[in-house]
This record gives sequence, C-alpha cells and structure tokens, in this order.
Amino acid sequence: MATTAMERKLLIGGEWVETGEWFDVSSPYDGSPVGRVARAGGAETRRALDAAENAMREPMPAYERAAILDRVAALLAERADEAARTISAEAGKPLKAARVEAARAVSTYTMSAVEARKLVGDAVPMDASQAGAGKLALTLRVPIGIVGAISPFNFPLNLVAHKIAPALAAGCAVVLKPASQTPLSALLLAELETEAGLPPGWLNIVCGPAAEIGDVLVEDERVKLITFTGSGPVGWKLRERAPRKRVNLELGNATPVIVASDADLDDVAIRLAANAFSFAGQSCISVQRIYVERDSYDAFLERFLPRVEALRVGDPAEEDTDVGPLIATSERDRVLSWIEDARARGASVLTGGTLDGELLRPTVIADVPADAKVSCDEVFGPLCVVTPYDTLDEAIALANGTRFGLQAGVFTNNVRSALHAARELEFGGVTVNEAPTFRADQMPYGGVKDSGNTREGPAYAIREMTEERLVVLQL
Ligand code: NAP
Repeated sequence: MATTAMERKLLIGGEWVETGEWFDVSSPYDGSPVGRVARAGGAETRRALDAAENAMREPMPAYERAAILDRVAALLAERADEAARTISAEAGKPLKAARVEAARAVSTYTMSAVEARKLVGDAVPMDASQAGAGKLALTLRVPIGIVGAISPFNFPLNLVAHKIAPALAAGCAVVLKPASQTPLSALLLAELETEAGLPPGWLNIVCGPAAEIGDVLVEDERVKLITFTGSGPVGWKLRERAPRKRVNLELGNATPVIVASDADLDDVAIRLAANAFSFAGQSCISVQRIYVERDSYDAFLERFLPRVEALRVGDPAEEDTDVGPLIATSERDRVLSWIEDARARGASVLTGGTLDGELLRPTVIADVPADAKVSCDEVFGPLCVVTPYDTLDEAIALANGTRFGLQAGVFTNNVRSALHAARELEFGGVTVNEAPTFRADQMPYGGVKDSGNTREGPAYAIREMTEERLVVLQL
C-alpha cells in the first residue's frame, strides 16, 4: 500500500508556488494515489530562471555552501525513513532498495560538501618557458552559470541529489525538472534544502510536461549547462538542440558480466541474482547479459537459478520484497513482448517469463541470438540472458557488441585476465569480482558510446559545472 496522498507545490525563488493546475502521482504497484503536484509550464520555468539568475548575483562563499550541504545531509539522515517510503510509494521501489538509495543520497551530499571545501584551481609553472618567465599564473574554478537539471524516475532521490548537490557545491544555481512519475522525492529534498538555510533562488523545482519545460531549458541562454539522466533518444536530442551549452548525458546500458571458470561461482550467483533483479531491473546498470565460460555454465546455472527463484516478488512497501512492479503496465507488457520475440527466435526461458498477479517474475533466458532485443537493447526490466563462451576474448567481443558502454563486470581470480578485460571492455567502468551494478557515490560514474558523455560523482560533476579562468600576474 502507498503512503497517504500528499499535496506538493513547486519551489521557485524560495517560495512554494501553486499554479492552479495539478497532476497526480500514483503507485506503480496498485494505482493508489500517492500525491498531487502543482503543474509548471514554460512561464514557471522562466520565473525559476529569473530567480536563479538573481541568486547568482550574490555568490555564496564555499564555506557557506559546504555548511548547507552538510546540514541537508544531516536532515536527510534524520528523515531517511520518510525519504525511503516516498521513493517506494511513487517509484514502486522495494522498501529495502529505497532505504539504500536514501542512505546513498546522504553520502552524495556529504561528498559534495567535502568537494565544495576543496574546490581550487592550479598554479601554472610560468617560468618553464621563455615567454612566461617573470610572470605568475594561476587558474580559478568559476561556476559555469545556471544549471538546468532533468532527472529520471528510477532513482528519484539520489539522482536528483547527484545534480543538485554538486551544482550548489560548484556555486551554481539550479532549475530542476524531476520525472513526472516521481516528483515527490525531489520536492522532499527541496524542503530539506530550504530548512538547511539555502537562500532563495539557488534551487528551483519545476514539475510538469517534459517538452514544455525542456524547451525553455534548451532555449534560454541563461542556462549554461544541462545535466540530463534518462533515456538515450531524449538525451541526445537535447544535446543536438543546444550546441552552445554544455549538455551532460547519463544514459542507458545493456550491462554485461563475464564469469570465468576460475571465479567463485557461489559468490557470483549471489551477487548476480541480487543485481539483475533489484528494482525489477530498472537500473541503468542492472545485470542483463551474463557470459559464462562453457565448462562452468551448468555449474553456474545450478547455483544461480535457485537464487533467482527465491527472490520475493510483491508489494514494494513490504520490508521483505525483493522485486516489485515496473513503473508502468505498458513497460511490463513491452518486456513480455521482448521475451516472446526471443522465444520465437529459438530462445528458452529457464525461469520466469510469466506474471505473478500483475508483476513480471524474474526471468532468465538462454540460447538467445546475439541480435535479439533482449541481447542488444536495454531491457530495463527483471530479465537477464545467459550465454556460454569459450575464450575470454570471445566474451569480451560479445560484451562489447552493443551500442552501449556504461559499466561492465568480470569475475575471475586470474589477475591477468581481469586486467586484460578491464583494458578491452569499452565501458566507462569495469568491476572485477563485483557486479557492475555497484556504485559508490564518489566514484566517477558515466558511460562511453551511446551511454553518455560525462562522469557524475561530486568531484567529477563539479569539474563539469565550473570553468577554468586563467589569471596572469606580471611580477
Ligand atoms: P526518460 O523517459 O528519458 O525521462 C528522463 C527525464 O527526461 C524525465 O524527467 C522526463 O520527463 C524528461 N524528458 C522526457 N522527454 C523530454 C524532453 N523532450 N525534453 C526534456 N526532458 C524530457 O527516462 P526514464 O524512463 O525516466 O529513465 C530511464 C532511462 O534512464 C533508462 O534508459 C536508464 O538507463 C536511464 N538512466 C541512466 C542513468 C545513468 O546514470 N547513466 C541512471 C538512471 C537511469 P517526464 O517524466 O515528464 O517525461
């Protein structure tokens, strides 16, 4: 069951704003009302930009920005249970995964405060050249300007934190548009920001129709950087439409894992069963394609399938649920149709592939052609594909055989194989003896190829959200 329905306004220029129009937020599990939110359009987005512009006229020193971020972290830690329940209610995320997300958002704020305190440029060795001798030079890191942020539904608290906290640490004001299915977690963070003493205008939240708000963020010249996390087609289009802005994209993946015969198969089975199906596979780094060395293939499945079948499917609000609903019934039906497509092309469903009530059971498929949708597109559902391989280089080629490149994993106890795979896998990150779903919030996180063009994690996002200004002094 969802929590009691709540009503939330927009945050613009430090005021909680009604617009006369509302939209509903409902539970992806049972459709029950979770809340209603004031609906913004282009006019409210422009007002939010005015407020952000005003705020940035009076820059805040780093120690104040850092202190606010630390206070938000403390307030969020105090209200972690409420935050987790909000995430679970609006996103349908099982409560135990929502609790992990809330704890991680605290750490995103803490890390951003640390980075705000050490934000500094470089000294330039001017006497290293004849032209520079007799001068002193240094670089300052100056805020890039107003940040327009657009976030997805699947981590409605922590991915919002990954946009807001580094931007504030960098000294940038923010206008954020959260996903329409999950605006309440973002608005809870906004409440904590104001409680922590953030002056008006530094953070503005506008919820409503994506195209209308997105158009203003793209077209208004005051927005200097758009930070977008979401699906590829939307992200790349935004970048195309805003050639003079920095447009940072964190997009999808079809996450591969290679399991060599010398790996600890019991450990691998535990980690992969948890990380292919957590939040019903709706993580951009959910394990999707598992390549297992042929002589261990059967032994791996013997360990893996019982663990998948033991996952508890059900109400996300219950403490022991592992796998809840997909964000929408249409998404569930899409995944079912991809399973049918694979079946029609000769694949065998080893477990799952059917509904438990309205929910899709965790599904494992074998004998899938490499060009089937479930092999090369992002499934974003509780499904993974298992495939045997003969040589490590064959497995690496299979893993690389998609247009995505966010994170990949390799399980092996051979250091040479691990390092060879790490070098050859064309991904933004490679995990060794850990599922590629792993993320700690200070890591540089992001993809290559169609998966994106940037790195998040406070230190790396702040680098993007500031510009280097050179100062040269004649001595
Ligand atoms: P989405 O449909 O692309 O939506 C993401 C955000 O973009 C939402 O706020 C959405 O608003 C907004 N949006 C949609 N159309 C827009 C437009 N024309 N202009 C401006 N904004 C627009 O993605 P999603 O379904 O929420 O998220 C799932 C995707 O995100 C997956 O592909 C997943 O892999 C990816 N993801 C990537 C990462 C990463 O860090 N790399 C992390 C999480 C998720 P509305 O909600 O109002 O439509």
